Amino acid sequence: MYTMLPDSGQQNSNFKGKLLVEKYFEGKVAQMKIDDKIINDRKKREVYNIKKHSGSGIKAVRQQICEVVNITKICIDAGADQGPTCYYETEELCYTIDLPDLPQLPGTGGPVTNPGPTDEQEQENLREAKDLEVHNYRKNDCDAILLAQRRAKLTDLKTAIERIKDKNIEYINVIRTSNKNNSSSLIIDYEYSNQNSKRVTATPHWNATNGYILGFSHNHPEGSAPSPTDVFNTSLNILEMVHNNNITRSELANYMNNFTSIVVSKGSVYTISIKNGVGYMGVKDSGFYRPIDHSKYSKLASDYITKNNLDEEILADRQEAGEYAILKLYGDIINITKHNIGEESNSQILKIDNSTKKVEKEKPC
Ligand SMILES: [Zn+2]
Repeated sequence: MYTMLPDSGQQNSNFKGKLLVEKYFEGKVAQMKIDDKIINDRKKREVYNIKKHSGSGIKAVRQQICEVVNITKICIDAGADQGPTCYYETEELCYTIDLPDLPQLPGTGGPVTNPGPTDEQEQENLREAKDLEVHNYRKNDCDAILLAQRRAKLTDLKTAIERIKDKNIEYINVIRTSNKNNSSSLIIDYEYSNQNSKRVTATPHWNATNGYILGFSHNHPEGSAPSPTDVFNTSLNILEMVHNNNITRSELANYMNNFTSIVVSKGSVYTISIKNGVGYMGVKDSGFYRPIDHSKYSKLASDYITKNNLDEEILADRQEAGEYAILKLYGDIINITKHNIGEESNSQILKIDNSTKKVEKEKPC
């Protein structure tokens, strides 16, 4: 998944911000800083090779992103005592993507209705109230299940999931609210994809122009479980919401209560939500460039496969290993539920069992 994170105040027509690139299981995630349409890949040039091409039509920037991907696993038998030595044969794959490549959100625009307090003391009070909101924020297993099931019942989202579930490239839907203070009226913006890419972009926003986005739903054609990028890059930075005087306490509460990142993966629907406000904010706040967590994720998943005698070629095994890895890393700060596509009241919460250390699915309510 590609994720576009505009700098604050940026318009889609003149993108300036960060671009994140995610690779599943190989443990590589890169971040490019885009300033004034210049792509500056400062951190991962050896992995991601960014080339700027001249724009065409109304597109602001056309660029090519290249990733080194694993094609085949080759194992050489080193003898009975040592076991096989394995390595991956890699290949460079390049996609052309256009920035911006986002849909026009219908029904957005208009003036900012809440300019926020101008008095310094009032601003401070607001920040403190929001900080308290984050520190006190918890979502228990049952609430996570109920939230997933509310999403599962949304007719437009069901339709959207049906449309993307069998695609062999990634598609994404935006879930946004017409009322920034609650989520009683949700709007699903139909799927879009990068035309020449296997990966999609997620651009979180919280403003009248670009919409009040409570999350995304995207498909994983490979059938993989949610990755660290799916958890964090689909959401707004909570700390920035605390410090943004235009955002009220009830808006922040609405966001944390109703944020979901949904991953549609070969027959299953994963719904990620925030479990612990301050924990979640801490991870978001520590930055989006998370290659270390992605390599930890990758290692946890492959160790789980080995330890439990699973087969990464088998979908259920691969998903379970990914579920374990994501829970091991972030199980204290996020909830993940899973149900089959089409099911509306059968979401189960994923846990790591204390004694078996294996992934368990529970339905406590
Ligand atoms: Zn994803």
